[in-house]
Amino acid sequence: ERKAALASSSGPGATSDGHRVPLLANIGGPADVAAAVEAGAEGVGLFRTEFLFLDDSERAPSEEKQVAAYRQVLEAFPEGRVVVRVLDAGADKPLAFLTPGDEPNPALGVRGLRTLLDHPEVLRTQLSALATAAEGLPVHLEVMAPMVADRADAKAFADACRAAGLRAKFGAMVEIPSAALRARSVLREVEFLSLGTNDLAQYTFAADRQVGAVSRLQDPWQPALLDLVALAAEAARAENKSCGVCGEAASDPLLACVLTGLGVTSLSMGAASIPYVRAMLAKFTLAQCERAAAAARSADSAQEARDAAQAVLSGE
Ligand code: PEP
Ligand code: MG
Repeated sequence: ERKAALASSSGPGATSDGHRVPLLANIGGPADVAAAVEAGAEGVGLFRTEFLFLDDSERAPSEEKQVAAYRQVLEAFPEGRVVVRVLDAGADKPLAFLTPGDEPNPALGVRGLRTLLDHPEVLRTQLSALATAAEGLPVHLEVMAPMVADRADAKAFADACRAAGLRAKFGAMVEIPSAALRARSVLREVEFLSLGTNDLAQYTFAADRQVGAVSRLQDPWQPALLDLVALAAEAARAENKSCGVCGEAASDPLLACVLTGLGVTSLSMGAASIPYVRAMLAKFTLAQCERAAAAARSADSAQEARDAAQAVLSGE
């Protein structure tokens, strides 16, 4: 079945009636690029730049080192889209020289964009390295901030991008329920949204993503999570802007159809999942995906949502 899915699956992501949903890859650095290209990724939807910061526990990597790494990734997708996430330090990704060690609840403390706003020189260097790396390349560079809570966060990030002279689209990750609830306000400052469903589930259900005992609440099929996805996607549509998903949710082929039905405009996932998601999406029309999404949102649990979507798509 695995081979069949891979063999029958190629080309850009789309529903059976031709509604385009670009399928992008989540990568951690240049080492992941080959697998992404091999899987037919139409670009990168989440470049987690943390990897560059793991070598040295004392300081950020030099601008030159960053330029070289970013350039390698950007060159691999000459005409494609590459969405780079600026450093997401803290909580599940602590960095000794940036992350406060004395917080009682690190997931609710200084992490993601909050860390960068406390250390503007780290953000400045990263943005400047990206600007240099993209020079002269036809790539569509997009840059986004993790853990945006509100319009003020989005504005601070967009201001930093402009100050660095970055010629890219600026976006906000929607990982905190406040950003989904007020997506329209966040979109006053940025050009796109990207839903980080791993953290969005964590913060919606008050369930630490690192604690196995509460994993039931990390299930991305939870109808409350689907409601927040729908809110963000509807706000983006109203503003004529894009709203992708780059959390684990996008790698579940059935859920990918539901997310498409909720109005999500691109899906980014580990390269290995792309052929399966592409094959599944190609089986259904946008209207079928929308019906599956509505059925999932009417459910009262993750399992019911899954069953309801499955029933709609298998014509029961
Ligand atoms: C997410 O939170 O869904 C996400 C994509 O970011 P990360 O998993 O790196 O926190
Ligand atoms: Mg996250």
